[in-house]
Amino acid sequence: MDAYNTYLDTRGYTEGGYSFTDVVIEGLAPGGGLFVPHTIPTISTEQVCALADLPYAARAAFIYRVFGVDLPDELVDELMQGAYGDNFDDERICPITEVTPGMHVLELWHGPTSAFKDMALQCLPRFFSASIDKKRESGGEPYDYLVLTATSGDTGKAALEGFRDRAHTGIIVFYPHGGVSDIQYLQMATQRGDNVQVYGVQGNFDDCQTNVKTAFNDVPFNEMLAEKHGIKLSSANSINWGRLLPQIVYYVSSYAEMVKSGAVAPGDPIDVCVPTGNFGNILAAYYARRMGTPISRLLCASNENRVLTDFIRTGVYDISDREFVLTPSPSMDILVSSNLERQVFELCDRNGDAVRGWMDDLRSRKRFEVDERTAARMKELYAADSVSNAECFATIKQVFDEHGYLLDPHSAVAWTVAERLREDKPILIASTAHWAKFGPSVYRALKGIPVGCDLPSDVASLSGMQLNERIASETGAGPIPAGLAELASLTPRFTGVIAGSPVSVEEATVSFLEKRKQH
Ligand SMILES: *Cc1c(COP(=O)(O)O)cnc(C)c1O
Repeated sequence: MDAYNTYLDTRGYTEGGYSFTDVVIEGLAPGGGLFVPHTIPTISTEQVCALADLPYAARAAFIYRVFGVDLPDELVDELMQGAYGDNFDDERICPITEVTPGMHVLELWHGPTSAFKDMALQCLPRFFSASIDKKRESGGEPYDYLVLTATSGDTGKAALEGFRDRAHTGIIVFYPHGGVSDIQYLQMATQRGDNVQVYGVQGNFDDCQTNVKTAFNDVPFNEMLAEKHGIKLSSANSINWGRLLPQIVYYVSSYAEMVKSGAVAPGDPIDVCVPTGNFGNILAAYYARRMGTPISRLLCASNENRVLTDFIRTGVYDISDREFVLTPSPSMDILVSSNLERQVFELCDRNGDAVRGWMDDLRSRKRFEVDERTAARMKELYAADSVSNAECFATIKQVFDEHGYLLDPHSAVAWTVAERLREDKPILIASTAHWAKFGPSVYRALKGIPVGCDLPSDVASLSGMQLNERIASETGAGPIPAGLAELASLTPRFTGVIAGSPVSVEEATVSFLEKRKQH
């Protein structure tokens, strides 16, 4: 194999020595920082544009190869063909729709769960299994991995679908009982696969997450799992480099597509606008730019939780006096945006000591301020704005009325910011969910019914699927993706609800493992 890339961490604790397969399995770096590759490879505009002639899976394999992953080329090809094949409902995987001249919507929701997390979570679990295989073959410890995920709705389903029936892995998803939508509940409760389990947890999402975190940090519990069950826990969450790398692919690939379609001349820049929460998606666009993709500005779109917008404008990240706001774009409702740590690491010339200080400040004082030069670089690269709930709804209605294109609330936040900040370049707008995942909000937007006002009683009594049918028939915005449409005809497999305590989470984990052993 060719020389492969090694990884260091954002807080200056490690000096490399980790390979791609290591960081996929480890997730978080020792010391609490995030892994980044030593070398960010560059490719020429010609190489970027040439990707347009390949199927998406081959484009992804190409990017992985230039990043120097420590797996054989043929295996990477094979894993990518599995990750990006007929599990997507469009053979282009993430097609681009030019909704109005210059505004190009990148549809990242054609995967099995209709949300953009599929782009990474159809890919990462395959590489996770292959990484465990590699460890075992080279005489490493013979553990299997159990992914525990607390979810407020969307991530859980995408993770279940990604890890379903992957070798050496199992997954348990915990969601707040009564705290997810009709559709989200059914998506998880009807999950197929032999290595999956889903539980409702009494309490809200925070309780749910805290209990799962406690299980991760319970040393005797983890020792018992290893000894008695041969299991280690993993979270496979969005700070895993193995989730970021597949996201870089679609930005490089999209540029190639836009050249091919004549939307941009080879080498001319585009802007990219991303509805942002944990900063993973937009960071992938940054790395695509670093690799040589002609991307000019990165436009960071926030909802009413505007901590990132304020940070980009001021260099101060401050959550000391900030309320967590519930919005119609829940996947962007966030205070601590984890992947931002990688971005500031890159912009301060990879000064791990500085990053460690900022992250310490964030923990102890709920605030950090980057140095002037880092702040200036951030401002040069990024532009940012935030969108109110009312503006988000108005955009959904306006874009539908004017262009007949239905946006989900997350994508509508990005559209709004793109429209405000656009210059005379084409803009690629990341669309992160199919509208039918957020039917009630889309219905409100189209009918001008603000959040907080009751829906008409004949609408309020509809199931999530029935409401989607109604929206589709009134707007002509069909068909509803198969994975959402079939929910009405499936019987839930997982209806269990456990108490909101760490002990219950641990007991549920053990009972899942015991049950699997019997099979
Ligand atoms: C996760 C998610 C986001 C936010 O993406 P980040 O990578 O966390 O910034 C936006 N929209 C949807 C629909 C999501 O599921």
